[in-house]
Amino acid sequence: MPTFDNIVKKLQETVENPAYHRYPSYQGLKVFRKSVADWYKRRFNVTLDPNTEVVSLIGSKEGIAHISLAFIDPEDISLVPDPAYPVYNIGTLFAGGRSYYMPLLEENGYLPDLDAIPEDVCEKAKLLFLNYPNNPTSALADVPFFERVVAFAKKHNIIVCHDAAYTEIYYGDNKPISFLEVDGAKDVGIEFHSLSKTYNMTGWRVGFAVGNAQVIAGLGKIKTNVDSGLFEAIQVAGIEALEGDQSPQEDLRKVYQRRRDVLVKGLQEAGLKATAPKAALYVWFPVPEGRTSAGFAKELLETVGIVATPGNGFGPTGEGYVRMTLCLPEERLQEAVARIKSAKLV
Ligand SMILES: *Cc1c(COP(=O)(O)O)cnc(C)c1O
Repeated sequence: MPTFDNIVKKLQETVENPAYHRYPSYQGLKVFRKSVADWYKRRFNVTLDPNTEVVSLIGSKEGIAHISLAFIDPEDISLVPDPAYPVYNIGTLFAGGRSYYMPLLEENGYLPDLDAIPEDVCEKAKLLFLNYPNNPTSALADVPFFERVVAFAKKHNIIVCHDAAYTEIYYGDNKPISFLEVDGAKDVGIEFHSLSKTYNMTGWRVGFAVGNAQVIAGLGKIKTNVDSGLFEAIQVAGIEALEGDQSPQEDLRKVYQRRRDVLVKGLQEAGLKATAPKAALYVWFPVPEGRTSAGFAKELLETVGIVATPGNGFGPTGEGYVRMTLCLPEERLQEAVARIKSAKLV
């Protein structure tokens, strides 16, 4: 869907101003960082120092990929959820490190079991990646889980990197929390955030990382050496996104909720074991008996012309699942479920 109007208009006005036709600072305009801190205060009641605890990112993926270069030495370990957004593992590998996969199981609400991680792995681990609301499972985290994460990170001296790209995409009163809301979180970690999903700004490349000042400084050190920051006119449009009218967001959630209901109901009627996600943009469900992830995805593609992502593409524990998204109009999802039902795949 298109970026909200007020944001597009703001960029149109701003881009004409020669004051922005220059190299930006790598950490972001002070007004942008202040705007991020104010938004965190309003949305999560988290206090941030815009000077030391906020850095702008060229999309949150950029920061997620670069954080490992700052803290992972060869042979160091990152604790990575499985299944997960692939960048946590790839960033670790590019830095010469190794990933230890933490399985996310349905029976644990797709939260990792931190007690199951072997002691020697905890000792070598430098980073712990988490992501709630979760891609691909759409699961949510709660305060007790994040409290366990803080205690674990303190005990083993591990930096927590929480990817919070979907906190504003939720249904009903399942309003997601920030990792930084939990006591002690800022001692051990940072949170990545993005305007991509919240304001339909995926192509604009604007995000930020917030939290522990030393960790933010480490990420900033990499950024000064590999990029030159985020075009300032886009930062000004980002301020408009964070501070302007938020009502289009409410409409956006309603659109996704209607799509979710169409897709999940249709899949259920087709005999598939899909359940309605409480947040994020994904329907993650087990493939029918006797199929693999790739086998079922291929069958969907070849028999009904539908692309679904095989779960094992997100990590070995994703085997046996597929992921569908809510990123198409309701009519297309109607069409998709009609085809799935008539093909009698189950
Ligand atoms: C979309 C997404 C992001 C990154 O979005 P950016 O556009 O790079 O800000 C990060 N994490 C997850 C889990 C995502 O799905």
